[in-house]
Amino acid sequence: MPSQIGFDDTEYELLREFDKIYLNMPKKKKDRIIVTVDELHKKIESSFDCKKCGNCCRRGKDILIDGRDINKLAKELKVTKDEFIEKYVKVDNGRSFLIVNGECGFLNEDNTCSVHDSKPNFCRKYPFLTPFTAYLFFFVDNNMDVKRLPVKFPLPCDALKNLIE
Ligand code: SF4
Ligand code: SF4
Repeated sequence: MPSQIGFDDTEYELLREFDKIYLNMPKKKKDRIIVTVDELHKKIESSFDCKKCGNCCRRGKDILIDGRDINKLAKELKVTKDEFIEKYVKVDNGRSFLIVNGECGFLNEDNTCSVHDSKPNFCRKYPFLTPFTAYLFFFVDNNMDVKRLPVKFPLPCDALKNLIE
């Protein structure tokens, strides 16, 4: 996996398939991918136009968080770390999740985030443009149908879908 692109755990999950193929590529092709994906990522990031629809906060799925997220959110809400964990966190398989229950409790009516400055890293990275870029590159490079991308990215993000249409 190209290390300088900086994949984290969550993104890595999305990239497992790409990774398998990447590992079997000749070195020359790997080097080219590192450069190309990095450049493509910059372009995609600059043309990504968030619709502020709030769909990403209504996915119904609990959100992966870590100790740093918990500390920041507890501080923002002016509660202790333990109080925050008791009210908002569940642990599954050794990983911590912000309980969402359909729609995140921190979502405002106007689709803004009430804890914007302290929101979890997962939310900050959504909709994961880095692995999206790697997938996009991989599909295009192998003359595959880019429209199949959402199968690997079941994200309810219109702005992301617009990028591949
Ligand atoms: S913490 Fe904020 S950005 Fe993250 S899901 Fe909740 S409302 Fe959305
Ligand atoms: S789903 Fe996509 S377009 Fe809608 S608010 Fe989230 S990131 Fe923006």
